[in-house]
Amino acid sequence: TPSESNSTGKDVFKVENSKVIVAVRVRPFSNREKNENSLPVISMSGSETAVRNPATNQVYSFSYDFSFWSFDECHPNFASQAMIYKTLAVPLLERAFEGYNACLFAYGQTGSGKSYTMMGFDEDRGIIPRLCEDLFTQIAQMDKQQVLYHLEMSFFEVYNEKIHDLLVFKAESGQKKQPLRVREHPVLGPYVEGLTVNVVSSYSDIQSWLELGNKQRATAATVMNDRSSRSHSVFTLMMTQTKVEFVDEEQCDHRLTSHINLIDLAGSECCSKAQTTGERLKEGVSINKSLLTLGKVISALSKQSQNGKKTFIPYRESVLTWLLKESLGGNSQTAMIATVSPAASSTEETLSTLRYAKQACSIINIAKVNEDVNARLIREFKAEIEKLKAAQRSALNTDPEKYRHYLQEITSLRIKLHQQERDIAEMQRAWKEKFEQAEKRKLEDIKELQKAGIAFKMDNHLPNLVNLNEDPQLSEVLLYMIKEGETTVGRCTPNSKHDIQLSGVLIADDHCVIKNTVGKVSIIPLREAKTYVNGKCILDPTVLHHGDRVILGGDHYFRFNHPVEVQKVKRSSCGSMFLHDGLKDFEFAKNELLIAQRTQLESEIEEARLKAKEEMMQSVQIAKEMVQQELTSQKEAYESKIKSLEAEVREESRKKQIQELNNQKAATKIQELEKTKQNLELELHFNKKRLEMETLATKQALEDHTIHHAKILEALEAEKQKIAEEIHNLQKNRGNGNKTTTIPLNWNSLKLSVMIKEANTISNKLGKNTVFYRHDKIDNKTGTVSSVQVQVRNIKLGITTFWSLEKFACKLAAMKELYESNDSNKAADIFYDPADEWEPDLSDASVSSLSRRRSRSFMKNKRISGCLSEIKLQPIQNIQTSHVSGT
Ligand code: ADP
Ligand code: MG
Repeated sequence: TPSESNSTGKDVFKVENSKVIVAVRVRPFSNREKNENSLPVISMSGSETAVRNPATNQVYSFSYDFSFWSFDECHPNFASQAMIYKTLAVPLLERAFEGYNACLFAYGQTGSGKSYTMMGFDEDRGIIPRLCEDLFTQIAQMDKQQVLYHLEMSFFEVYNEKIHDLLVFKAESGQKKQPLRVREHPVLGPYVEGLTVNVVSSYSDIQSWLELGNKQRATAATVMNDRSSRSHSVFTLMMTQTKVEFVDEEQCDHRLTSHINLIDLAGSECCSKAQTTGERLKEGVSINKSLLTLGKVISALSKQSQNGKKTFIPYRESVLTWLLKESLGGNSQTAMIATVSPAASSTEETLSTLRYAKQACSIINIAKVNEDVNARLIREFKAEIEKLKAAQRSALNTDPEKYRHYLQEITSLRIKLHQQERDIAEMQRAWKEKFEQAEKRKLEDIKELQKAGIAFKMDNHLPNLVNLNEDPQLSEVLLYMIKEGETTVGRCTPNSKHDIQLSGVLIADDHCVIKNTVGKVSIIPLREAKTYVNGKCILDPTVLHHGDRVILGGDHYFRFNHPVEVQKVKRSSCGSMFLHDGLKDFEFAKNELLIAQRTQLESEIEEARLKAKEEMMQSVQIAKEMVQQELTSQKEAYESKIKSLEAEVREESRKKQIQELNNQKAATKIQELEKTKQNLELELHFNKKRLEMETLATKQALEDHTIHHAKILEALEAEKQKIAEEIHNLQKNRGNGNKTTTIPLNWNSLKLSVMIKEANTISNKLGKNTVFYRHDKIDNKTGTVSSVQVQVRNIKLGITTFWSLEKFACKLAAMKELYESNDSNKAADIFYDPADEWEPDLSDASVSSLSRRRSRSFMKNKRISGCLSEIKLQPIQNIQTSHVSGT
């Protein structure tokens, strides 16, 4: 790379343009992809990566700094963990030793291999552990007389735009630790306020902190759905090198600092296309603002370096980009690794990842060595003293005044110099103290986790429960021992005395008890709390065997291990079928639960659909009534108009009769009045004719109108019939139990079911009068389910609204945060957001008690308003005026 050409130069003020290094890595097929008989769509040759879209057979080709083929081990160019470390991370470490900042981040869809690349698994260690170990190995080989190394680390997670310290379990007050915030130092730039920064002196120090951090992540991930795929984890090492140089036998310290940021980003699918086009942002929730903004920053930087014009870079729009300001377009040597799946089913996401990575290729950073200002000052002071000494020597003989002046200055500089040196010594002392404090805190944190039941060292004969997580990185990280006698399980609260303390909405205060009597282990469910063994919800004490799956409260998955039982079975001959616990992973437990809970889940989904249809029918009924009502009132208006017209006609006739009577009486005057009479008669005749015509027209209009209404009523009735039939069929099917074909049953439905239960539990516990339902939106045309939403019903106000699944997920995360913090006041706007479109609640509305306002909202239902829009009632006024003006 061009940036390396000058790296061994002595110039410490060196500033270099350095391109962001971009690599792509393709992983092997997962078991699921293998089972689907997937074909690979990716090929690599040199630094080129090509994707063939199986749908169109079109080939897309991209070129990066590196293309890593990790698809099959037997391939001659297979990229192992070690090889990737060497190619991508070793140069970064070299730069860090030179005093530059370094950064590496992994981008890609969930399950594509980000964590495998960054952290790795057991023997397949990834970049982070390799780099840390390498760092300490290199330090050990350095001459300690010449360079002092000092290392600190931090490890945090960005989730929902909040920063969670992974190295602190509980705040000093014993309360749950609050999220941290980003601040900006005028000189040093953005930083996380209050973040734990631990001094580390060996690789094993880092390992134990990482273990602690990963246990915290695993604990947090169980409480929040999809948390691990939606969060970014940032591991930072800060290295300070103090080089001891001697100038004229005097010690001269020279300090270099560098930050090494290693980042495992959230799954790229958390920032879908709909988000980038701004569509869903209208909802007021961003699923992952940090990832969205990272894309914007990369795109802006790439444009900037291509057209050479200074552009606004929206670093401050998200927590992650603000913190990574220096790593992108700033003072850092940065690399990115984009991970992709080889499977055809991921083609679209893979292409989007490759395009994203391509943009990053053109970003240019400006890296410079970070030299400590104090050290430079000392050097400058020393040079100054030397100069003055020389001047002093020459002035000694000539000018005593000047001599005294020089002496004074030298003294004051020496004082300053000593001050600086004392500062450095003080810093060393402070570091040592910090190190000791960190060690103490680590022990306290471990104790705290152990109090919650999480074991650190496995006792190899006690039975235990190990956690299973959707994210393999967080699976089998938490270990809970089952001691002889009773082990109680319950919700984690400040005063909980339970042996195993779990967080989570659906975990009851006293959830279950596990009994271990001479190696026989059984689990006893308590009251309402849900406990599943091998997928089935249990109501009675159940004996556990090695490899059994235990699920508590809906989303805490465990595998039961019984080492003694394994030994026994191994000794007996027929035990081979028993030992496949390697397959009893999260995927296995989840599928088993899905199959066992199928009936339950299906009836839940059907319930939602039935409800949706019933509501639809109800609104058709209401629309019908409205039409009926309109018709009646129109008819009444027409009839009264006809009556009044008829009365007028009668009046005119009566007037005419009187006129004729008068005519006879005043026969003598006839002649005189002949002319007037003729005129009057003409006028009367005309009036009568006009009124007759109007009556006729009004009658006709009424007739037309009635026919028109009758047609609409007929249509609505047919509509109602159709829905009623659908409902009938649904109900019939439910009775028959043959329905499996119509309902797409999947993992997401089960997850949604658990999430809805959680939301209802929180609402109930906080007294929020809000209930949540699964709502299957039905397409107007086809009558089939077009999308799934969550219906939010405020039973106190009798109003209802609908949330998309993404919005619901976001809101639930916020609810859980509030629930955990026990601050129910702030919950108000989660449960009732005035910005939502609320409608009167249909479900309990009796059709007869219709209000106008209510009717208006029914019109929003397209299927019904479509029918009603045809009803354009002509105002009576118009008929009259048009006739009058027409005659
Ligand atoms: P992500 O962090 O991107 O969600 P993971 O790193 O957890 O994905 O990988 C998902 C699964 O794929 C894990 O079980 C992991 O062991 C496996 N995997 C990923 N990359 C590789 C690879 N290069 N070689 C072998 N297995 C891999
Ligand atoms: Mg991961």
